[in-house]
Amino acid sequence: GHEEEVGEEYLFKIVLIGDSAVGKSNLLSRFARNEFDTNSKATIGVEFQTQVVEIDGKEVKAQIWDTAGQERFRAVTSAYYRGAVGALIVYDISRRTTFDSVKRWLDELSIHCDTTMGRMLVGNKCDLENIREVSVEEGKSLAEAEGLFFMETSALDAINVQTAFEIVIREIYNNIS
Ligand code: GDP
Ligand code: MG
Repeated sequence: GHEEEVGEEYLFKIVLIGDSAVGKSNLLSRFARNEFDTNSKATIGVEFQTQVVEIDGKEVKAQIWDTAGQERFRAVTSAYYRGAVGALIVYDISRRTTFDSVKRWLDELSIHCDTTMGRMLVGNKCDLENIREVSVEEGKSLAEAEGLFFMETSALDAINVQTAFEIVIREIYNNIS
């Protein structure tokens, strides 16, 4: 009944990873506050943001962690990954080097987390079609090969951002229920 359901609560830690400047912080601010920031400034003070999502009538708290720019020095710590049950691995469709780095990020993820976690490969900045360096097909096939969900997003134009996070959250939910 109602009383039993009130006590049920879900808290999912989800990490954002990927090279510097691919748009991780803006994906989070778009998802959590519907905001976009044109100045790329390092995240200060905020380790994560919590967003409540309803799935099957249940309240799920998604605690989404953003790096404070440590990825520039390849120094994302194990504390960052600890307890994570979901991950968005982000690259920038207009910079191939960020796509080439995905394998390295997946390796790092597999060192710290269980591979049964909800994982989504995210090709961000799909608004930059005119300077695209990575095709949709390349993204798709890498995701298929690695067993990841895949989506292209634009934090700038608010394309697929909500959906990307929600798919990961739902996948985690399905894994545990
Ligand atoms: P992070 O280092 O991965 O956290 O990346 P940021 O969120 O700081 O974004 C890096 C730069 O890319 C900033 O100048 C953003 O304004 C820009 N940016 C982020 N997302 C998008 C997007 O979807 N489209 C475009 N065109 N630029 C974006
Ligand atoms: Mg950032």
